[in-house]
Amino acid sequence: MSVEFKRITGRTRLLNPFKGNALDEIPFEIRFDPLTGATGRVFDLPFKAERPDVADIVGRSKKVFCPFCPASLEKSTPEFPKDFIPEGRIKLGGATLIPNLAPFEKHAGVAIFSQEHFLPMENLTPETMRDAFSASLLYLKRVAQTDPLVQFFSINWNYMPPAGSSIVHAHLQPNAGEVPTNAFREQVEGSRRYWQEHEQSFWQDLIQAEKQRNERYLGEIGSAFWVMSFVPASFLPDVQCILPDQVTLLEFGDEDLESFLKGLSNILKYLLEENVYSFNVSIFSTKEEKSHRVNARICPRLLPRPIGNSDIAYPQMMHRESFTVRPPEGICQRLKEFFS
Ligand SMILES: [Zn+2]
Repeated sequence: MSVEFKRITGRTRLLNPFKGNALDEIPFEIRFDPLTGATGRVFDLPFKAERPDVADIVGRSKKVFCPFCPASLEKSTPEFPKDFIPEGRIKLGGATLIPNLAPFEKHAGVAIFSQEHFLPMENLTPETMRDAFSASLLYLKRVAQTDPLVQFFSINWNYMPPAGSSIVHAHLQPNAGEVPTNAFREQVEGSRRYWQEHEQSFWQDLIQAEKQRNERYLGEIGSAFWVMSFVPASFLPDVQCILPDQVTLLEFGDEDLESFLKGLSNILKYLLEENVYSFNVSIFSTKEEKSHRVNARICPRLLPRPIGNSDIAYPQMMHRESFTVRPPEGICQRLKEFFS
């Protein structure tokens, strides 16, 4: 086993006014991602999020035009060309999948969860999330059938404005293309490098290593393994889901999706308890890269202080360096209870 959890810890010395100007030492930590080598900063601050005014956000969203509400969906959203989707839009259960007018990728869809303008986070269960994810999988499979050049697939979700969503009406964004994004490319390159050096899947070794250490490991649901990221990507620690037997979303079955949705809903229940009402999700998948595995990240998002500041600041924006204010190891035990 060669997965390495490298970290550097240090202390900054200062005269602390909250301790009578006595000499104090503030610890800090730099961690190195075991797959990519990318660094991130971990602090241990007494941060506790305040519950946002969800009713106010929803109220404001109803004063602006929503293209995903039933009154406007048919006439205000685009359709796929008939030679790609004969019906124009993919409809599955309560979900509707349409082309993305702001295409982030060669193939970019928007999967609207339901007719409900606001789907409260408390109601995000496997049942209420299933149709939109199933429609996204159907779309990506259709893309792969019709465009042999695409290699990189993802299903993405901004839930509520602090996560970047401009439309409160819940929707996923499935993408497929030939060029991976930076984070995706680093994953794939790291997976290949690890495979060449160890003739093993990094992802399987990571699960073994995390299980043994039992500091960040959350549990296993069906085919999905859940672990807190060693190097958190967000202001509050994020969670990774790994499907160690799945190389591609194109072969994702109902059981795989169910395993993912159950774990995701567990995490969302925990986030509600922490007063976090916004998050990002991305599921990453290649078409057939044998060293890579289907994996996802769930990042809490929030406006940390009452003034409404963003949780993304110069470190992430200018230095591409993540930081988190609470170590994942300090949260893991509580979050794990939602998995038992
Ligand atoms: Zn709406």
